Amino acid sequence: MRVNGTCHCGAITIEGEVDPETATICHCTDCQTSTGSAFRVSIRAPGATLRMNGRPATYLKTTANSGNPRVQAFCPTCGSPIYSTSPGEHPRPSYTLRVGILRQRDQLVPKRQIWTRSARPWVAHIGDIPHSELSTVPVSEPRR
Ligand SMILES: [Zn+2]
Ligand SMILES: [Zn+2]
Repeated sequence: MRVNGTCHCGAITIEGEVDPETATICHCTDCQTSTGSAFRVSIRAPGATLRMNGRPATYLKTTANSGNPRVQAFCPTCGSPIYSTSPGEHPRPSYTLRVGILRQRDQLVPKRQIWTRSARPWVAHIGDIPHSELSTVPVSEPRR
């Protein structure tokens, strides 16, 4: 499936071919820290299919949860995560794109969750948390 996307500020655009079956939620603590969130959603793209405009900043994490060194790429202006890959020259064989930057993200439903050992306990019950289609949910008053 052909996908394309852009970081929040638009400095980096990316397009490539992904296999929707590889859409994965990762609950590892590296993903929690580097997204500033509870988990990350990613999808694989072969390097040969990837086209990119703009130059992401990279950070090499040598002691990733997986045990393998991973290059994390993000926009140097707005900080949006773009992809991770193995160290080496571009193009590497495979890139793991961040689904949140892709225009087709509605269609990229995660097919598996990994590193659930470190998942935040509330994510399994996220539908139970008071919610709103827009930005406001009244904060409940503390009970007396
Ligand atoms: Zn940006
Ligand atoms: Zn992870």
